[in-house]
Amino acid sequence: MSYTSFNPPVRTLMGPGPSDVHPRVLTAMARPTIGHLDPAFIAMMEEIKGLLQYAFQTGNALTIPISAPASAGMEACFVNLVEPGEKVVVCINGVFGARMKENIERAGGVPIVVEDAMGTPVSPDKLEDALKTHRDARIVAFVHAETSTGVQSDAKTLAGIARHHDCLTIVDTVTSLGGSPLKVDEWGLDAVYSGSQKCLSCTPGLAPLTMNDRAVDKIKQRKTRVQSWFLDLNLVMGYWGSGKRAYHHTAPINTLYGLHEALAMLQEEGLEHSWARHRHQHLALRSGIEAMGLSFLVRESARLPQLNAIVVPEGVDEAVLRNRLLNDYNLEIGAGLGALAGRIIRIGLMGYGANMKNVMYCLEALEAVLA
Ligand code: PLP
Repeated sequence: MSYTSFNPPVRTLMGPGPSDVHPRVLTAMARPTIGHLDPAFIAMMEEIKGLLQYAFQTGNALTIPISAPASAGMEACFVNLVEPGEKVVVCINGVFGARMKENIERAGGVPIVVEDAMGTPVSPDKLEDALKTHRDARIVAFVHAETSTGVQSDAKTLAGIARHHDCLTIVDTVTSLGGSPLKVDEWGLDAVYSGSQKCLSCTPGLAPLTMNDRAVDKIKQRKTRVQSWFLDLNLVMGYWGSGKRAYHHTAPINTLYGLHEALAMLQEEGLEHSWARHRHQHLALRSGIEAMGLSFLVRESARLPQLNAIVVPEGVDEAVLRNRLLNDYNLEIGAGLGALAGRIIRIGLMGYGANMKNVMYCLEALEAVLA
């Protein structure tokens, strides 16, 4: 059997990610590959660090992209910060909070679960109660923007409670970075990871990560060695740090060109403008969704503009609906996950894809398919 080039269909990506990649990012990625220790490449790495500090709103020196999907950003936080036997309070209100729990267990930690229903934000009161009961816990983990339900939690308040109880925070911002307000330093978040494929409009495969000195000190004071070689930040920083660079792994050169372009575009637009654009397009989508008689899973005050979870109307098979959108309109939207499978559809308005053309196209297609 002989194969020829793969030419993917041209889709409009309005699911939970990946989102549509900006043509400028794709063009940047097609530029010539150079060595990962080439001085020109190292200069670009420094720019990426500065651009990521802007996106995260932080001055943290340890602000880098991990060379792997967002799940590796999650794993990097847990394997570096959690030592065997340590208690970690983990807030679960969706699929990704549950993954955090598994990461804690695999790192040898003892998870203390604070649970909220899917579609509701993490409860600050429940976190406070858990920390009063488990006074020896030193880490709190939660998801800022739960992609499985489209709900945002109040990261600033949760981090304030954690700090009051002398705990570090590990925060998942995979879906929030670039799409809705996120202020790492002002909110006092300690270890934060994200992904390249959502509101940054880059391709999947990179995990922006930032840690402050409190988190770095905890890693330095570990009694046991980080059990992952690839994600041991002591080693990763030998390559990404500001001193003499040492080979750790071969960086995904062209993907990093793409991230650089995506972050430069975010800076050109301005972070606050990007947040406002996502909100504006969400409100336009909301009007159309409500005009069709459909409803949102999440109460208005806790909705993420970039991830819209819509309740599937009685008698509609959502798998058939999504297939028709894909086959007849080349439009990808997301299914419900876990307990919400079959009960919701998820419409993403992320990064470059958060524009009026996409909103109108999606509403037209949905109306036609539901008729
Ligand atoms: N955390 C959240 C909130 C996510 O939405 C995702 C992916 O959708 C991940 C983590 C994992 O990201 P990846 O699939 O890039 O590993």
